[in-house]
Amino acid sequence: SPSRSSVIIVGAGVSGISAAKVLAENGIEDFIILEASDRIGGRIRKESFGGVTVELGAGWIAGVGGEKSNPAWELANKSGLRTCFSDYSNARYNIYDTSGKIIPIKLANELYKKAVDSAKERMDSAIRSLRSQESNNRGCGGGDVSRVTEPPFTPRTPFELALDFLLHDFEMAEVEPISTFVDFGEREFLVADERGYEHLLYKMAEEFLFTSEGKILDSRLQLNKVVRELQNSRNGVTVTTEDGCVYEANYLILSVSIGVLQSDLISFRPPLPRWKMEAIQTCEVMVYTKIFLKFPHKFWPCGPGKEFFMYAHERRGYYTFWQHMENAFPGSNILVVTLTNGESKRVEAQSEEETLKEAMGVLRNMFGPNIPNATDILVPCWYYNRFQCGSYSNYPIISNNQLVHNIKAPVGRIFFTGEHTSEQFSGYVHGGYLAGIDTSKALLEEIRKERKIENQNNLLE
Ligand code: FAD
Repeated sequence: SPSRSSVIIVGAGVSGISAAKVLAENGIEDFIILEASDRIGGRIRKESFGGVTVELGAGWIAGVGGEKSNPAWELANKSGLRTCFSDYSNARYNIYDTSGKIIPIKLANELYKKAVDSAKERMDSAIRSLRSQESNNRGCGGGDVSRVTEPPFTPRTPFELALDFLLHDFEMAEVEPISTFVDFGEREFLVADERGYEHLLYKMAEEFLFTSEGKILDSRLQLNKVVRELQNSRNGVTVTTEDGCVYEANYLILSVSIGVLQSDLISFRPPLPRWKMEAIQTCEVMVYTKIFLKFPHKFWPCGPGKEFFMYAHERRGYYTFWQHMENAFPGSNILVVTLTNGESKRVEAQSEEETLKEAMGVLRNMFGPNIPNATDILVPCWYYNRFQCGSYSNYPIISNNQLVHNIKAPVGRIFFTGEHTSEQFSGYVHGGYLAGIDTSKALLEEIRKERKIENQNNLLE
């Protein structure tokens, strides 16, 4: 029969690793981590490209410089990670139209103000409607979510669409208070280190797993183990992986993404209760794709305030948001363009040649026909990757806490963790990190309770 451990952790991203660390620190050493891919890190993932190390997943430490210290920033400092300050706020002064003209500053400011005001107005009306719904529903249980419906101002022109994209997909903090920036500060630092953002995770892992020369050699970490079935019973949890292995444990911590929970990769026996399924299906999944392009030389402006630039097109989000990598890696001649949601999915499904052609078309519109072709392209795949199914959770702008509460709540012996279970910091690395700690603490509490009952029963016998 399969050996039994105290706890099985499914997934070795930041939340799985931080959860395991807390268990180890509290004397629970007989855990097993089952990870579907061949590496740790999950959505923190580096790759060599064009002579430097680029981050396909999390790239920034978001929320720095405030009163409270961001734990991800602390970890980065402790492990000597090289970072680089990023300032999105200039992006709106570098908006190109399809003929390569930059929108004048005065007009940019006017349009930006209009976009912020309208977004705030939408937010206020959504809050009002949630409040009135709540007062109508009082006593009937929560769980309702108010989505922003008809906006009072609809962005139509390419410039308005570009600013709308900037505000909703990048500068959300301009419109609504986001805990990450309220608590930890408004600054963001790009990780620009050959060892990658994932270096933080290796440093964390070193503290409780057996490692040698930067490699994890601990048999409690099992890679290439795709969990397909979880059986929850009164006495324990049984896990079956795709390669037919069976594992048993007293408890399980499940750290797979919200997208994976929505997919049919893992089946639950018995099925998850309805309130749980509904909560999982309600949470939106954001797709965010950074496409990297390498050039033989620079043809874009590089001075102060030029790191980010935008392309105004009649299709919202069509190769809108650009960044050059000269601040992070001088001389690298790399550009990054970020796509989201529908555009991400579209591009993930087509060939790299097709994507390269589109991106070059956009760049030629901005910088003229004589710019050189890119010599290399890298298109990460987050949506059609069955171990991710998206980039991060995106709770409705206005939602009550019941939703995240239900997503996080344990079911029998299965405890849920991951960035999507963080009430305050979902969608971020620090959210995943803190969620792992939180979930392990809740599990430790449960284990203590169970032991106490066992001891009492033993005394009675
Ligand atoms: P994950 O890292 O996804 O870990 C879950 C693990 O479970 C994965 O390793 C996966 O392989 C594994 N798994 C899945 N299914 C199974 C299975 N069936 N069996 C076994 N294992 C399984 N955050 C920031 O703070 N700043 C940023 O700039 C930022 N940018 C981002 C950009 C992109 C493109 C993406 C994708 C994310 C970004 N994030 C950013 C978010 C951040 O990366 C995540 O919030 C965080 O890394 C999530 O950690 P996690 O442990 O919750 O999940």
